[in-house]
Amino acid sequence: MERKLSKLNKIINMSAKICVLTGAGISAESGIPTFRGGGNSAVWKGMPFEQISSARMVRENLDAVWEWFDHRRGVYKDCQPNAAHFALAEWQEKFEDFTLVTQNVDGLHSRAGSKNIIELHGNINRARCEKCGRIYQMKFDEVPHQPDFCENCETKLRPDVVLFGEMLPVEAFQIAEQKARECDIFFIIGTSALVYPAAGLAEIAKFSGAVLVEINPEETSLTNFCDHSLRGKAGDILPNFL
Ligand code: NAD
Ligand code: ZN
Repeated sequence: MERKLSKLNKIINMSAKICVLTGAGISAESGIPTFRGGGNSAVWKGMPFEQISSARMVRENLDAVWEWFDHRRGVYKDCQPNAAHFALAEWQEKFEDFTLVTQNVDGLHSRAGSKNIIELHGNINRARCEKCGRIYQMKFDEVPHQPDFCENCETKLRPDVVLFGEMLPVEAFQIAEQKARECDIFFIIGTSALVYPAAGLAEIAKFSGAVLVEINPEETSLTNFCDHSLRGKAGDILPNFL
């Protein structure tokens, strides 16, 4: 591992453009459960997360969706960013062209000090009115969520999170794609890489000539595709860079 790290440090120091994509695994050491890692699969009141976190469930039972999201917000509010989140916040200070893309909705990157984060799946601390589009920022420790109804048009609000069956925010994804295409080195950290667009962004980066580096305690479907795969926890590995 030490040799790998020192080799990678050399590559990083020669890189002008760095892009990092994180998934649920980077927050695992903060006490936030992943959905798939370690052989687990999240279930809420007998429903798999693909069902409770879906566009269909928003239409059919928005109250149940909020119950699940407020449950998660209740877990997240007591969690703190970990060494991996802090390390990436420092990288941002060190590199002129650094991009952080996350699939996470927990807000821990920004609590660790990262800025201009591209949040592909939204944020669990925001609510949205589907009718008029107004966004409501909530405090991370405000559980259960409030307000419940839009102050503009009195429509019941929904979580501002991308659910199964929904499109990613177009502009955010376009920027992420462009950054993946342009970067010299692309890190994929703590994601099972099963959910689009994680795998897609990694492919774009690699086919555009970037060095692809994975950090994950388990093998993923992308492992064989990566130039370097570091087997371990993000919070143990990331602070050893730079
Ligand atoms: P996932 O649950 O599918 O996979 C998690 C991955 O993290 C696994 O490959 C696992 O081996 C790895 N992992 C576990 N502990 C780790 C550690 N300490 N360091 C590095 N890696 C570790 O997660 P996903 O690929 O992000 O996809 C799940 C979807 O669910 C995402 O879209 C995400 O938005 C959402 N989700 C978000 C959160 C969050 O915001 N914290 C939590 C759960 C799920
Ligand atoms: Zn409204």
